[in-house]
Amino acid sequence: MDSYRGIRALVTGASSGIGRAIAADLARRGANLVLTARSEITLERIAAEIREDHGVDVEVIVLDLLEEAAPQRLYTATSRGRLPIDLVVNNAGIGTYGVFGKIRADREKAMIRLNVEVPMALTALYLPPMVKRGTGGIINVASVLAFLPSPYMAAYGASKAFLLSFSESVAAEVRGTGVRIMALCPGATRTEFHQRAGISKKGPDIKYEDPSDVARHALDAALAGRNLYVSGRLNWLVTQFPRFAPRKLTAWIMERVRRPKGV
Ligand code: NAP
Repeated sequence: MDSYRGIRALVTGASSGIGRAIAADLARRGANLVLTARSEITLERIAAEIREDHGVDVEVIVLDLLEEAAPQRLYTATSRGRLPIDLVVNNAGIGTYGVFGKIRADREKAMIRLNVEVPMALTALYLPPMVKRGTGGIINVASVLAFLPSPYMAAYGASKAFLLSFSESVAAEVRGTGVRIMALCPGATRTEFHQRAGISKKGPDIKYEDPSDVARHALDAALAGRNLYVSGRLNWLVTQFPRFAPRKLTAWIMERVRRPKGV
């Protein structure tokens, strides 16, 4: 794939934040879209705006990806009698925040389902037909926390570390097939993520990236054939820190920076 023009791209979690920005940027570059999330009214509004602004086809599939059969239902809905999906953006994700063990177990379970199992299931469904056609791409939205210990987001950071390792491994397996897989690792980005995760302390003087910048640079990186893209120069430096500093020191710093109010 050397351009997004005329491709058919599936974006999960397209009703907000990074997913919405990726969808808009893909449309700006001429891609037709399948957008999915749970918020029907918001998704329909975004789809209408994109159609009007960019004149591309936009299909909306309202789905709760936490439902057991959701990945298969999504695959079936996007496959029947249609053009194939050329690009899957596994973006839908949630965070959990707090002292591990005090966060509700059902929230942690839902987070692991959405951040780990769903992208893995969708990759398993969409990848083989792409390999067969000899073209396609998958972008898995991980995080800079994939590289670091993440006190107070312990399970979330681990879920993103899984997604990073998974993406890089499968990318190596499909090298030379014409299919590309990229892990996108954003740092703090201005979306609804932090509020939804209940994050009460965001760290000192964090500079939030704009989701449209994350989207634009990530889509450029994927076209360039990158398997990993860390959004933002400072974030990239942060991901390099554990390579040079003792892991214990990294974890100590992260604990101090991320400690919730009152702990
Ligand atoms: P966001 O604004 O909260 O968007 C999350 C998206 O996921 C929404 O479209 C939401 O749509 C969808 N979603 C949530 N639960 C869902 C479910 N059960 N089924 C289907 N869709 C669901 O957050 P964001 O920051 O854009 O997050 C996008 C990705 O970036 C996530 O994977 C996140 O971990 C990652 N990330 C974010 C940051 C950051 O600082 N913002 C940093 C690093 C990585 P509905 O509610 O309509 O279903």
